[in-house]
Amino acid sequence: MPELPEVETIVRALRKPLVGRTITAVSNDWPRQLATHTLEALNWQLKGQRVEAVKRRAKYLVFELSGGDTLIIHLKMSGHLAVVEAGEPRHKHVHTVFSLDNGRELRFRNMRKFGRVYLVKDPETVLGKLGPEPLADSFSPAVLRERLNGRSRAMKPLLLDQHFLAGVGNIYADESLFYSKIHPQRTADSLTENEVEALYTAIQKVLKMGIAREGASIDLYTKPDGTYGDMQNAVAVFRRTGLPCYVCQTPIARIVMNGRSTHFCPHCQR
Ligand SMILES: [Zn+2]
Repeated sequence: MPELPEVETIVRALRKPLVGRTITAVSNDWPRQLATHTLEALNWQLKGQRVEAVKRRAKYLVFELSGGDTLIIHLKMSGHLAVVEAGEPRHKHVHTVFSLDNGRELRFRNMRKFGRVYLVKDPETVLGKLGPEPLADSFSPAVLRERLNGRSRAMKPLLLDQHFLAGVGNIYADESLFYSKIHPQRTADSLTENEVEALYTAIQKVLKMGIAREGASIDLYTKPDGTYGDMQNAVAVFRRTGLPCYVCQTPIARIVMNGRSTHFCPHCQR
C-alpha cells in the first residue's frame, strides 16, 4: 500500500498539472469507489470547481476546490493517479476519471478496486480521527512519548495504527523499528526514554529517505508518470528475510503480527 512517502511523491507530481485547472466532468464505472456521492451527484457538485491546492494528510490525497469543497482520494492497496491527455488509451483498471478544462484528465486506476473517492464540505469528517503527521513541526519526541504512555500494545501494530500515527505503513514501520533498535514485539510502555527518542529520529529518517527516493516501488506502486521510486533499493529489513543485516550480518527474520509480515534483525533489535 502506498504510505506517506509514496503519497507525498504523488501529491508533488500532481500539483503542477492540476492546480488552477477546472473539473468539467467525472465518470466512473465502479460505484463502490465513490464513498460519499452517486456519480450523478458527484458530477453536479464537482463540475466547474477549480483545483486550488493539492495536499496530503496521512495516506490521503486532499484536493482543495474553489467551491469550498474538498475532494479526497485514498489509493488503498494499489491505486494509481495520473494526469494524461483525454485521447490516450485508457487502462482497463481505470475506474474513475476527472475531466479537466484543458483537454486532459485525472485518471484513478485501481486494480483491486479498493480505492475511495470522497467529496466533503469539511475534510475533518474523513480525516478528523487520524493521528499526528510524523513530519509536521508539531510532532516531537515529547508528543510521541505521550502517545506511547500507558499503552500495552506491541510496537509494530501500534505504528501501523493510523489513529496512533498517520502515514506509516508496513515498510516504514519495519524500517523505523530497525533504526531505533526496537524489537517489533516490544510493548509501547516498555520503551525507555532513549528508545522513544531513537524511534522519533528513525521515523523522521525513514520517511524523509522515502520521500527523497520518491517512494518504494514494492508491489504495484509507481509515480504518476509510471516510473519507479527508488526506496526499495535502500531498505534495511523490509522483505530482506534471510539476507544479512547490514550492521551485524545476522539473517533478517520475518514474523507475522496481526496478519502483517514483519521484518527485523533478531540481533540488533531487542
Ligand atoms: Zn543486525
